Amino acid sequence: PMDSRPGNGAAFPPDLDTGQPTAARVYDVMLDGKDNFAVDREVAHGSLAVMPELKEIAVHNREILHRAVRHIVGEGGITQFLDLGSGLPTVKNTHEVAQETDPDARVVYVDIDPIVLAHGRAILADNPNTTVVTADIRDPRTLLENPEIRGFLDLGKPICVMLVGILHHILDEENPNGIVAALRDAVPSGSYFFITNFTRLSDEPASIDLEKQLLEQLGTGRVRTPAELERFFDGLDLLTPGIVPLPLWRPDRPITDATSTAVRFMTGGVARKP
Ligand code: SAM
Repeated sequence: PMDSRPGNGAAFPPDLDTGQPTAARVYDVMLDGKDNFAVDREVAHGSLAVMPELKEIAVHNREILHRAVRHIVGEGGITQFLDLGSGLPTVKNTHEVAQETDPDARVVYVDIDPIVLAHGRAILADNPNTTVVTADIRDPRTLLENPEIRGFLDLGKPICVMLVGILHHILDEENPNGIVAALRDAVPSGSYFFITNFTRLSDEPASIDLEKQLLEQLGTGRVRTPAELERFFDGLDLLTPGIVPLPLWRPDRPITDATSTAVRFMTGGVARKP
C-alpha cells in the first residue's frame, strides 16, 4: 500500500516488518522525521490524542541531547559515546553534535529496532567514527561484551553512556536499576551518564490516569516518580542543576512556562562516575 512506504525513499531491508509499529519509528513521527510507516503514525496520533504535548516533549528531549552532548564533549572532554536506545541516527542525533565539537568523537548507536541499523548503514557509510549495533539493553552483560562495541570504543577509558528516553520502555520486572548499575560498574571512573525519562507529574488520580492512557496507546512502558528517577543515578555525582525538567537543564534560551506538562513530563540529568 502506498502509505506504508517511508517518506524519504531510503532502502529498507526487504524483510522489514512494516505491519507492526516500533518505538523508534513512532518517535520519528514525533520529531517530524520521514522514516515511519502508517502503523507508526497511527500509534503516534493515538498518543497525541491523549497527550498533545508529546511532540513538544520529543523536541525538548532532542534539544537537551544537543546541550548535554556538547557539554560532555566540550567541558567533560569525553569523546566516546554509547547511545543506548538511540532511535534513528537522524534529525540531528548524537554523532552530529559530538563530532561538531570534536570531529574525532566516536559514537556507537545501540537500538533493539533493526530499522536503526538499516538506516545507520546508509547514513553513516562515510562516517568512520560512528556505528550502529542492534542489541537489547535488558541484557547489559551481553551488551558490554559485544565485540562490535568493544572494537569501536575503548572501555578502558571514560565514555558517556546515554539512556535518553529509553528507560521508560523498560518495565520494573525487567530491572532497569540493575541495567543501569551493570553499566555503571563496567565503565571507568570519570565516565558520564546522561539519562532522561517520562516522569510522574503528580500523585493526583487524574495524572495517574493520564499516564495509564498514554502507556496504553504506546503499548507498554512505565512512567517513573522523581524518587525512582533519582535511583538511576545511584553511585554517580550529578552535575548541576541535577535532575530537572528537560528544558531547565542548562538552557540556552528562556523558558516561558516551566509548570506546563510539556516541560515537566520528562526530566533528566547528567552525572559523572567518581
Ligand atoms: N534516544 C533517542 C532520543 O531520546 O532522542 C530516541 C528515544 S526513543 C523514544 C526510544 C528508543 O529505545 C527506541 O528507538 C526503541 O527502539 C529503543 N528501545 C526500546 N527498548 C529497547 C531495548 N530493550 N534495548 C534497546 N533499545 C530499546
